[in-house]
Amino acid sequence: RLTGSLWHDVRAVPATGSTNADLAALARAGAPEGTVLSADRQDAGRGRLGRGWTSPSGAGLAVSVLLRPTVPPARFGWLTLLAGLSLVEVSRETAGAEAWLKWPNDLLLGPERRKGAGILAEIAPPTGVVLGMGLNVSLTEAELPREDATSLELAGAKELDRTVLLAALLDRLEARYRAWSAAGGDPEVLLPGYLAVCDTIGRPVRAELPDGGSLTGLAETVDTDGRLVIAHRDGRTPVAAADVVHLRPQ
Ligand code: ATP
Repeated sequence: RLTGSLWHDVRAVPATGSTNADLAALARAGAPEGTVLSADRQDAGRGRLGRGWTSPSGAGLAVSVLLRPTVPPARFGWLTLLAGLSLVEVSRETAGAEAWLKWPNDLLLGPERRKGAGILAEIAPPTGVVLGMGLNVSLTEAELPREDATSLELAGAKELDRTVLLAALLDRLEARYRAWSAAGGDPEVLLPGYLAVCDTIGRPVRAELPDGGSLTGLAETVDTDGRLVIAHRDGRTPVAAADVVHLRPQ
């Protein structure tokens, strides 16, 4: 069930290279806000900073949505975070799995809090954002791309029907996006909910930076632009997702 009229064009394909790449092409051709593309399998899925996102056997759910936010672009960092919030809600309430977030773009599933979904927001010039989510639905242990990964099924979820999961995800995403947009991108409407499900907050972390250096401290909160605020000896430093190569627990 879709609550509103935001998702007016929902296209589902069995397989593609990357739903983000396909939707970016549609965006260039003038597709309107609310265009959605989903796939069961991606052969060239993308992660942050040129990294890959695999869904080996068609056991995943890749979904990309085209947004044309009217809030100041500096605040777009919150799009990744609100997608994460939506994934947590769907994992907990629809699928029935334990779920948390790792800032900026990972969904952690199960008691061991392993990576079960990734989010990738990409600017689609001049005015759009393609917001993509890759969720491990029914990957088996043998299909996991790395040791600290998992899937909804392995995390004990009861609901694994992709159509049900997709509808719930679009529903949550629309509600979160509308609230954030209506507030002009002010994250106050999302912040308490985000902090409550973000496993990163309150923990010692090391942010590896693009210049090879790193910043170590306590992950304190998230700011107006969606940057992680790290408290350290000399004060507080907000770090943007684009400037963090890896975020490691300390
Ligand atoms: P980190 O490697 O520190 O977790 P990240 O979370 O920022 O970095 P992303 O760009 O979000 O990395 O995701 C890409 C990484 O996710 C890949 O380098 C790969 O290790 C891992 N990965 C790829 N496909 C999957 C998948 N289906 N499930 C879980 N992890 C995956």
